Amino acid sequence: MADKRPIPYARQWIFDDDIEAVIAVLRSDWLTQGAVIEQFERTLAERCGARHAVAVSSGTAALHAACFAAGIGPGDEVVTTPLSFAATANCVLYQGGTPVFADVRPDTLTMDPVAAKAACTDKTKAVIAMDYAGHPCDLGEIQALGRAHKLTIIEDAAHALGATYRGKPVGGLADMTIFSFHPVKHITTGEGGMILTNDEALSERLRLFRSHGITRDPHRYVRKDEGGWYYEVQALGFNYRITDFQCALGLTQLGKLDKFLAKRREIASAYAAVLGEIEEIELPVTLPGCESAWHLYPIRLCLERLRVGRAEIFRALRDAGIGVNVHYIPIPWHPHYQALGYNKGEWPVAEGVYQRMISLPIFPAMTDRDVEDVITAVKKVVGDFRK
Ligand SMILES: *Cc1c(COP(=O)(O)O)cnc(C)c1O
Repeated sequence: MADKRPIPYARQWIFDDDIEAVIAVLRSDWLTQGAVIEQFERTLAERCGARHAVAVSSGTAALHAACFAAGIGPGDEVVTTPLSFAATANCVLYQGGTPVFADVRPDTLTMDPVAAKAACTDKTKAVIAMDYAGHPCDLGEIQALGRAHKLTIIEDAAHALGATYRGKPVGGLADMTIFSFHPVKHITTGEGGMILTNDEALSERLRLFRSHGITRDPHRYVRKDEGGWYYEVQALGFNYRITDFQCALGLTQLGKLDKFLAKRREIASAYAAVLGEIEEIELPVTLPGCESAWHLYPIRLCLERLRVGRAEIFRALRDAGIGVNVHYIPIPWHPHYQALGYNKGEWPVAEGVYQRMISLPIFPAMTDRDVEDVITAVKKVVGDFRK
C-alpha cells in the first residue's frame, strides 16, 4: 500500500467526451450566457421531475439565491440542521436572517421533523433541510410542516443527486432543491450549482438574483421602456452566473450519473458486507422507501469498545493511505457562530455523533483494489485498538 498514492475520500471522474464537450464550447461564440446553460438546466430538471431550473456558479450561490427567493431578511428565522457544511446555514446569514438549528435523527442524521417543528416560532419563514450523506430527509413531514406554518422548504440536496424518496427523485419534492457540482459531488462542473423548483414565481426571482437583479423583459418593467438599451435593476442581485463550458461538462457528466450512482451503491454494499461484521463500528442506515445517492460513507465508532479515541483511529487510517474525513463539525461550534451567541450542547444527537464519526472514501472512480485497501485498513486499525 505504501507505494500507492493515498485514496482520497472523494474525487471527480472526467472522461475524454467530457473534455471534448468543453473544448467545443470554447471554440464557439458563447462562453457564458449561451444556450448550453439552458440545455443543462432543462436536462437536470427533467431528470429530477422539476418544472424549473436555474444554474449558478456554486452550490453556495444556489443556497444564497434560494434564501433570497424565499424572501429571507433581517428578523426572519430559518430552521436548519447543525450537521452539515457551513454553507447550509451561512446562506441565511448572507440575507441577514437568523439560522435556528434543529437536531438530527439518530439513524439517518437528517433533520428530525419533530425537532424542526419545536424550533418554529412566529418569526420562522423557511426550513433548510439537508440530505445527509445522500439519504433524503423526511420530505413528507417537512413539506407538511411548511404547509401548516406557511414556510418555504429548501432542500440542500448537495449530497443527494440521484437519490429517491418514496419512489420519486429528489429535486422536485421541496419548494426549492439545490445541488452542487463541486468535484467531490456526484457530477461536476468544476464549481457550479443549481436550484430546482416547480414554482414559476420563485424561478423568476432566482434568475433575477443570479445576474445583478437585472431584468431585460419589457413585460416586467416597473418604469417606462426607454429604448433598445434599457434594462432595470429590480433587486440587489449578484453575479452568480455559471459559464457555458462548465455546463457542457455538466451535461456530459449528467449522462454518466446512473453509472456513477451504481458504482457508489456497489461500494456501499461492499463496505456493508464486510464492515457490518465488526462490532466496534456502526454503519449508515437506509430507511424503507428511500434510496441514498451515497455521497458519503460515514461510519460511527463505538468508542466504549476501543482503547483510543476517534482522533487516533483517524490518524492511523490516514497513515495507512486512506483519505478519511469527518462530516461534519457541528455548524454552531465554529468560531463565527460561537461569536454570534450559539451555545454548545443544544443538539445532543449531532454533537454526540460528531465525536465518533469517520467518512470512508466513496467515489465512482475507486477501483476494486481501492475498496479492498479501505476494508483491510479499517479491519486492521480497529483490530489494533480493540479493547
Ligand atoms: C458541497 C456542499 C455545499 C456547497 O456547495 P459548493 O458548490 O461547494 O458551494 C452546500 N451544502 C452541502 C451539504 C454540501 O455538501
